[in-house]
Amino acid sequence: MGQRIHFVVDPQGWCCMGLIIFVWLYNTIFIPKVILFPHYEEGNISVVAVLCYYFCSLFCIASLFRASVADPGKLSENPKIPITERERWELCYKCNMMRPKRSHHCSRCGHCVRRMDHHCPWINNCVGEDNHWLFLQLCFYTQILSSYTLILDFCHYYYFLPLKKENWDVFVFRHELALLRISAFMGLIILGGISRLFYTQLIGIFTDTTSIEKMSNCCEDISRPRKPWQQTFSEVFGTHWKILWFIPFRQRQPLRVPYYFANHV
Ligand SMILES: [Zn+2]
Ligand SMILES: [Zn+2]
Repeated sequence: MGQRIHFVVDPQGWCCMGLIIFVWLYNTIFIPKVILFPHYEEGNISVVAVLCYYFCSLFCIASLFRASVADPGKLSENPKIPITERERWELCYKCNMMRPKRSHHCSRCGHCVRRMDHHCPWINNCVGEDNHWLFLQLCFYTQILSSYTLILDFCHYYYFLPLKKENWDVFVFRHELALLRISAFMGLIILGGISRLFYTQLIGIFTDTTSIEKMSNCCEDISRPRKPWQQTFSEVFGTHWKILWFIPFRQRQPLRVPYYFANHV
């Protein structure tokens, strides 16, 4: 589960994901070149600040790629339905296959996904039971990286001591102001968009409700018992170890309580 490579053929999704990779690449190249390395060489910042930037950048791109190629929870062709859960399965009229309740048919991907949250063009994949945790990590690290970039852009002009050894013949320094303005503009747009999305995602997990369920207002008839937040988050991240919730380099172990347990108050 979640270990197969999953690749969605959708040119529109490739364009959206390409845009995100461009923004990431832009900041990962120019911020160290224009701010981090020159200020480090002149002793204005420590090596820890440089390493932290690369660390955030690595976690950001790792969670993006993993969320994009992870199987979101696609149902197998002939699923074995446990006898005890039979009444909790339903037929999808679009792909004519049985699926557990809370699954949804993604018209973009053309199949049903277990506990689907939404289809995200920015990762060119569905966000479902098996990759929701990676999507949350992506939102989290993107917020950290864009905030860090904005702080560095600000400090470069208003806080750090002016650079002494600027080489004005090098392209990046001749265009320093323009490069940093573009970086700050992209940082603000991404931070604004992602923060709002991350907030609604967290509320969704607190209430154990997917974005699709929230939109279709179907949660009333599911009438799940309210679980503690540690439980709902552990189910999404596939582990009770909170430190592992932040690590994209691991495999998720499903912990979700079968639907029929969750349905009884
Ligand atoms: Zn379907
Ligand atoms: Zn999809």
